Amino acid sequence: MRSLVRLRFLGGVNEVGRSSLFVQGDRSGVLLDCGVGVNHETRFPMYISPKMFECIVLSHCHLDHIGATPIFFIGGEKKVLGTPLTKELSEIVELDFLKVTHGYLPFEVLEVRRMFDSYVDTPNGKTVDVSEDFELSLMDSGHAPGGSQVYLRTDGRGVLYTGDINLRPTRLLPGAHLDRERNVDLLIMEATYASVAHPERKKVEDEFVEKCRSVVETGGTVLVPAFGVGRSQEILCVLKAHDFPYAVYIDGMARKVNEVLMRHQECLADPELFVEAVTHANWMTSDTERKAAAESPGVIVTPAGMLKGGPASVYSKRVARDKKSAIFLVSYQVEGTPGRVLQEKKVLPIGGENIKVKAKVQSFDFSSHCGREEYIEILNVLRPEKAFIVHGSKENCNFLFSKCEELGIKGIIPELGKEYVA
Ligand SMILES: [Zn+2]
Ligand SMILES: [Zn+2]
Repeated sequence: MRSLVRLRFLGGVNEVGRSSLFVQGDRSGVLLDCGVGVNHETRFPMYISPKMFECIVLSHCHLDHIGATPIFFIGGEKKVLGTPLTKELSEIVELDFLKVTHGYLPFEVLEVRRMFDSYVDTPNGKTVDVSEDFELSLMDSGHAPGGSQVYLRTDGRGVLYTGDINLRPTRLLPGAHLDRERNVDLLIMEATYASVAHPERKKVEDEFVEKCRSVVETGGTVLVPAFGVGRSQEILCVLKAHDFPYAVYIDGMARKVNEVLMRHQECLADPELFVEAVTHANWMTSDTERKAAAESPGVIVTPAGMLKGGPASVYSKRVARDKKSAIFLVSYQVEGTPGRVLQEKKVLPIGGENIKVKAKVQSFDFSSHCGREEYIEILNVLRPEKAFIVHGSKENCNFLFSKCEELGIKGIIPELGKEYVA
């Protein structure tokens, strides 16, 4: 008799945030991701006793996938697996998370250090045994630098967790490759933008660069709040690829990430473009430089991507009040963040103040997730027996569920904490 696989979704159900999935075989278990939800307040996935699993596999370095992992290092230890680049970037992200939450977390630097001391580098493309039941292979996910799709195999059965995935190439990263050779019986797939058709990338880039150019040429400053890992570097590459002739500034965590990616150029779509883009940009190091940049024509790329802290919130106070300037939002703005309020009301809630924004505000779709057609392509190519739909709003999960039905695939929108035996 073939062995059964049990899945328990500890978070990321009908929401984007706190992704965590427990996969159990006959004799052992593996935890895939353990992230936090970060909109209004920090939220954790359901707790699971560390006795129940052998190791934790991290799909990529974003907080909604790694943020809560250090809880397993309070008075204990577990093996953590992921790519070498995910390790380096996750450490930066996790330490920054501790800093911005001012200690209101159930763990501290010690636990974060312990977590990364227990890390086993597992490059994409490599297959390793991770427990009595499971063999693990990681594969590029096209979504974040170093990110992976996670494939587990037990007794001839295949479980694929897409993590966050993008099939389309961007300026920074090559698109994910779907491995048709592996059998995928159970698919756990993200649905962030399942019902959305992203606009053509070239058009988005052209419009973005053109708008930056016109603001700078009329003496304004463009502030581009962007997540420090991935999106900041993507924007630098877009500007460089279009030979943007004016000053470009980079600040915050993005600088540290630039240094890491310089050492991991093998994961990049166009290493030459990346090196040119980051060396051409001005790396901000002092408040005097920041003040000067915020008052001179140019483009400032800096975290936080949703204006929740980071140098972006400092720059935004000055840029928002200047009608020649602009704030260009280049990522999804989660409800409850200053970026979302800015997007909807043209008001900037920063430091207890509500600044009435005179600068232009515009959003650009530089998504690093699949769009509608690519999600359908994943289902069509992999043809799983069952598809569990996670990491999306109710609307997007339902959309993908109906696509599964049309394709004759059993779709499941899991319930939080419920065990599925398959
Ligand atoms: Zn992500
Ligand atoms: Zn995610």
